[in-house]
Amino acid sequence: MTDTNAVIEIRNLHKSFGALEVLKGVDLRANRGQVISLIGSSGSGKSTLLRCANLLENSQEGDILFEGEAVRWKGRGAARHPADRAQVLRIRTNLSMVFQQFNLWSHLTVLQNVMEAPVTVLKRDRAEVEEAARGYLAKVGIGDKCEAWPAQLSGGQQQRAAIARALCMEPRALLFDEPTSALDPELEQEVIRVIKALAEEGRTMVIVTHDMSLARDTSDHVVFLHQGLVEEEGAPDRLFSQPESERLRQFLSHVS
Ligand code: ADP
Ligand code: MG
Repeated sequence: MTDTNAVIEIRNLHKSFGALEVLKGVDLRANRGQVISLIGSSGSGKSTLLRCANLLENSQEGDILFEGEAVRWKGRGAARHPADRAQVLRIRTNLSMVFQQFNLWSHLTVLQNVMEAPVTVLKRDRAEVEEAARGYLAKVGIGDKCEAWPAQLSGGQQQRAAIARALCMEPRALLFDEPTSALDPELEQEVIRVIKALAEEGRTMVIVTHDMSLARDTSDHVVFLHQGLVEEEGAPDRLFSQPESERLRQFLSHVS
């Protein structure tokens, strides 16, 4: 049965790189307005799971549903790939990703970076996109940086520009992959404030993070991934104060 309340639903996902099985049957679900944090050691498969969710990576088994619509596949196992390019594009543009390394285009101004995909990929009206882009840049606190080049911004400002760029796609959900890990501690906070404000607005988000206070403060649900499987999940209060799994206890003792 499909539940249209789920923006993203992943069931029993398996993903290998050659002989290395990275995801071993993972379930993940983000309902509309929910913030899910994904935590786990380096190498546990967090980035791979996000990349599979928005179809940047192939997967070999399991289902991925976007707003109740299952990805259609061609082939099986190692040969499996999405069957419908239009569906891939629709899903990918609706699940906007924010990366650890910002990935802004250095040859475009901040404003051009934010406008690029809505204009060229979504073919939206340029003047309307520009107005929206300026609005999103103001919203993340860098409305005065529209004409700047990415290299002229601090890391925290670059990441906020990347968040504005993701928002300008008008996506149904935002996927963050360690959005603060590349930042100095004092710059982390300005990005965390933006993410918290988005959570309070009721945006649907999946946040991969090393920052347990970010996970605790923003999420409705926390998922602990260990060696390609969901080892434990639950509400942040319970999960952080009374972890059941020994591996989660060990993980928390190292990160916090
Ligand atoms: P995390 O984000 O939790 O640190 P990743 O999803 O990046 O973990 O990686 C999980 C595992 O998959 C690691 O062992 C990593 O080396 C491997 N891996 C990730 N991407 C690739 C790739 N493109 N080719 C081969 N192995 C990869
Ligand atoms: Mg990662």
